Amino acid sequence: MIEDLRKRNVHWAATKARIDPEYFRRLSAQQSPDYLWIGCSDARVPANEVVSLDPGELFVHRNVANLAPPQDANFLSVLQFAVEVLKVKHVIVCGHYGCGGVRAALSGKRHGLIDHWLAPIRCLYEDDVEHFDRILDFEARLNAVCEANVLAQVRAVAANPFVLDAWTRGQRLAIHGWIYSIKDGLIRDLGASVSGRKDAARLRGRTAALPKPASPRAAESADR
Ligand SMILES: [Zn+2]
Repeated sequence: MIEDLRKRNVHWAATKARIDPEYFRRLSAQQSPDYLWIGCSDARVPANEVVSLDPGELFVHRNVANLAPPQDANFLSVLQFAVEVLKVKHVIVCGHYGCGGVRAALSGKRHGLIDHWLAPIRCLYEDDVEHFDRILDFEARLNAVCEANVLAQVRAVAANPFVLDAWTRGQRLAIHGWIYSIKDGLIRDLGASVSGRKDAARLRGRTAALPKPASPRAAESADR
């Protein structure tokens, strides 16, 4: 089922590019559902469109920098409804490269209320600052934090009591970490899918290494 979405995404990107070869260049220059999508509010990442699903096929929650905060009533209401009422089979946390929320969190500047919202991302960066600061190119560093943030949100969803209770009931439910590139319209799977408590435990053990590129050069040369 999830692979089907990836294929739809590839097809969608190819069709768009064939009909209008300038489509992605222009975009990057500006700035009973089976799936719950947790994505960024960024207008360039329209959830249904990028996985080529019709309205009604995707339950969507979007906020700045695609966070899954365990104290946010809005997010928790969406998650509980999706898991317990809609009984979605997949929760997809989809970040995107070049995220303005992540950029603001790394900037060190004051922006107002949003600084409080973005504090978990700042903490994520500071907890591993030596690793991230080895990536000399700022855009590459930003994108590494974007990936790390997606993985952190997958961990948060997998640790959420609504999700844990669903697994305890034997409900089929998988959490996935994806990241989207505005430059080419394609989604990358970050290889952090979790479909039960054991998976979640493994993810906790693995995540520190997952977002880390092999070298600063590798991070800089990756498609961003
Ligand atoms: Zn964003």
